[in-house]
Amino acid sequence: MIVKNLNGTASKKCNCASWLEHWYNFGGHGNQRNCANTTCSNLATLGGHVKLHETNDHSHYIVPLCNSCNKLSNPFRIKSTLVSANKQVTCK
Ligand SMILES: [Zn+2]
Ligand SMILES: [Zn+2]
Repeated sequence: MIVKNLNGTASKKCNCASWLEHWYNFGGHGNQRNCANTTCSNLATLGGHVKLHETNDHSHYIVPLCNSCNKLSNPFRIKSTLVSANKQVTCK
């Protein structure tokens, strides 16, 4: 699965303690502590806003990322569950 970071999401907030908590709360696996990028082995420090690359699905999703992967401008491959960033269907 290939995703691309969304820009302009830094000020977005939800009702969870953080977007990383949001990911754990709504489908993320508690035993996954690493960044979702397949080529990265850093610990995840935040929940990054992404969308799927080159599909018709324009939904926004959260995946666990490290700081540097959260700044990638090119698409990258992930090994992670996608959790919806839409508060209406998650933490509202
Ligand atoms: Zn939330
Ligand atoms: Zn990373």
